[in-house]
Amino acid sequence: MTDTPKTRLATDLVHGGRIRTNLYENSEALFLTSGFVYDDAEQAEAVFANQIQHYQYSRFSNPTVAMLEAKLAKIEGADVCRATATGMAAVSAAVLCGVKAGQRVVASRALFGSCHWIISTLLPQYGIETMFVDGADLDQWRAALSQPTALVLLESPSNPMLDIIDLRAVSALAHEAGAIVVVDNVFATPLLQKPLELGADVVVYSATKHMDGQGRVLGGAVLGAKDWMEQVFQPFFRNTGPTMSPFNAWVILKGLETMHLRVKAQSDSAETVARFLEASPKIARALYPTLASHPQRALAMSQMSGGGTMVTFEVEGGKDGAFRLMNALRIVTISNNLGDARSLATHPATTTHMRIGPEERARMGITDGTIRLSVGLEDVQDLIDDLTQALAQV
Ligand SMILES: *Cc1c(COP(=O)(O)O)cnc(C)c1O
Repeated sequence: MTDTPKTRLATDLVHGGRIRTNLYENSEALFLTSGFVYDDAEQAEAVFANQIQHYQYSRFSNPTVAMLEAKLAKIEGADVCRATATGMAAVSAAVLCGVKAGQRVVASRALFGSCHWIISTLLPQYGIETMFVDGADLDQWRAALSQPTALVLLESPSNPMLDIIDLRAVSALAHEAGAIVVVDNVFATPLLQKPLELGADVVVYSATKHMDGQGRVLGGAVLGAKDWMEQVFQPFFRNTGPTMSPFNAWVILKGLETMHLRVKAQSDSAETVARFLEASPKIARALYPTLASHPQRALAMSQMSGGGTMVTFEVEGGKDGAFRLMNALRIVTISNNLGDARSLATHPATTTHMRIGPEERARMGITDGTIRLSVGLEDVQDLIDDLTQALAQV
């Protein structure tokens, strides 16, 4: 590559990280190969001795995946990115690679269901002490982080209640306790929130969501500073193999080219839908970070540049009311995915958050009438018309 100009987000989403071969392809090439070959045995020896840079095996690295990693690192402003097979591979690898038996992990309670399971069930099996706090309550963080801690995991805005955690304050408390801070930034996307600039150490994504954005493939990413990524994360990654398929990386590269346009349009529609729902007499409450009624609006606006693509609301009539509304929808479909071009409705209490049980759901504020809506790219008036006719049946 010749002298690279300093560029802005939209340009980086299209061009960032490109490796062009001597065949001069325009769009990124898909290197669907498990391994790579060497000119001679001496070259193979030198590659394994780290004396020359050369692709070896796609579990370690692959050119298509490397293009995605370079593009994501550039967008996030991180030194290093490693792409993973799924978002959960990213979260589990980021959490497991550095913590040891006898150490302590603190997490916000309002986590994606599988992240919650890793903290509540998996880590204790390895002798790691874990504890949950209510993420919005700084006093609870302060108490939990008054003891030496190895790692903090949190999600903001949270799934599905859109709680906001003060990333600057929690990062400062965590660092005093000796912990690294891992932020699951799926709901905000790298476009609306930059955890590393707010004090976090590691950012994890499910690329399945807004990065693909069109419901096709699974993927994840872990991003952080060079030292931690190379010394702590890389040995775990290389030897346990949570690697992303080159095909999925190629699809996600295509998704990223339009991510800023999609996230902007979907966020604008989400805010419009949230205002509509808030005004409906059959909706007990509607949650969206930029609404004046959101209890943490000021904090949200101090660390995010937009409200995101998700709206959570509570229908009258509990589970029955929620099911009636969801079953009456004609454009919005029922699915547990999010960040898709198609609007998707989820009933957390019976699906994504079913396994955590009624008590923990109550602590998180998830009621039987709670619906999580991922707002897509449809005409927003069609979405409001659809919700209007469905609400008439509640
Ligand atoms: C979907 C999701 C994950 C898990 O990602 P997968 O790609 O499904 O493995 C983790 N955290 C959050 C907040 C998510 O929404």
